[in-house]
Amino acid sequence: MEQYRCNSCGEKYSVTATRWRCDCGGMLDLVKDIPKIDVAAWNHFPNSLWRYVETMPFLKDSKTWESVTMGEGQSPIIVLDPLDPTTYVKVDYVMPTLSFKDRGAAVLMTKAKELGVSKVIADSSGNAGTSIAAYAARCNISCDIYLSANTSPKKIAQVKAHGATIKEIEGTREDIAAAAQKAIQEETVFYASHVYNPYFYEGTKTYAYEIFEQLKGVPDSLIIPVGNGTLLLGAYYGFKELLENRLIDKMPKLIAIQAANCAPLVTAFESGEITPAPVVNQGTLAEGIAIAAPARGKQILEAVRKTNGTFISIEEDEIHSARAKLAYLGFYVEITSAVNYAGYLKYKKAPEETIVIPLCGAGIKS
Ligand SMILES: *Cc1c(COP(=O)(O)O)cnc(C)c1O
Ligand SMILES: [Zn+2]
Repeated sequence: MEQYRCNSCGEKYSVTATRWRCDCGGMLDLVKDIPKIDVAAWNHFPNSLWRYVETMPFLKDSKTWESVTMGEGQSPIIVLDPLDPTTYVKVDYVMPTLSFKDRGAAVLMTKAKELGVSKVIADSSGNAGTSIAAYAARCNISCDIYLSANTSPKKIAQVKAHGATIKEIEGTREDIAAAAQKAIQEETVFYASHVYNPYFYEGTKTYAYEIFEQLKGVPDSLIIPVGNGTLLLGAYYGFKELLENRLIDKMPKLIAIQAANCAPLVTAFESGEITPAPVVNQGTLAEGIAIAAPARGKQILEAVRKTNGTFISIEEDEIHSARAKLAYLGFYVEITSAVNYAGYLKYKKAPEETIVIPLCGAGIKS
């Protein structure tokens, strides 16, 4: 049986609907057996991220996901420019709510349904809230989403459309999280947090499984945008499981991208810190990654260092031009997602290096 373990003090807890952090304040990780990956079994499942359900910590033969799934996952992987055949984009905005967050939300809300919860609360800069709201609707679970009044209006409209109650909070992204956490304590409900709840990463790890299948192996490097690190850590865990099962023989290098105006992890990486110091968000167009105090910062830095990866920071003027260039190549992404391509343009790729850039959110969102 899987358990939670505190990343700071090592304390263990059983997985319940209301446990979301350690009594010491530390972040919880899942302790579970290393999944035995049976590649041949994948074809017994529909063509979605649920191909990999047997690698996720659900009760054996649990079918809860069948009533939750909206077909998320298995996004296309495409050579961006035929002149550079080893650079791919993974079109992760091809998802039910138009962002990669559906990977995590589908799995997290399946777990919530399995635990029998009737209400969830989440806080978000936009896309995670949209995704949790959609899957909560799918599960017939009521849902409050805490977000900033400055969130893109189209994202707020999306959340509302799914019937979630919106709680608009004045203040920083951290103030919004604090308001949600206060409500969690007062109402003792399930915290459907993409940052805190480890089940979210069981969903985002499928990003790695899919790349492994689509490229028939492991790429040399992955460009990954980082705010709270849910895609970065998910990709890291996914490739680690493939490595532990000897399906691949190395980890891809993680090239993490932040906006220069809100880059606590870049600063920590460059000065050799183990844990990032919080920064003040100077304001960035990349609203989806503007996280001044990433709660899993220590784990993100560790993952990047372990893969021999690096960090790149992007200036504001580079964001718009990257978005325009991508659109001229056919791919229209939301502003935050242009940062990924800007990071790629700054990265000094070797000619034969295989690299995957995620297109995380659809252009009509912002
Ligand atoms: C959530 C999100 C990110 C960043 O993900 P983190 O988990 O915060 O690192 C990047 N781009 C888009 C479009 C997102 O929705
Ligand atoms: Zn602890």
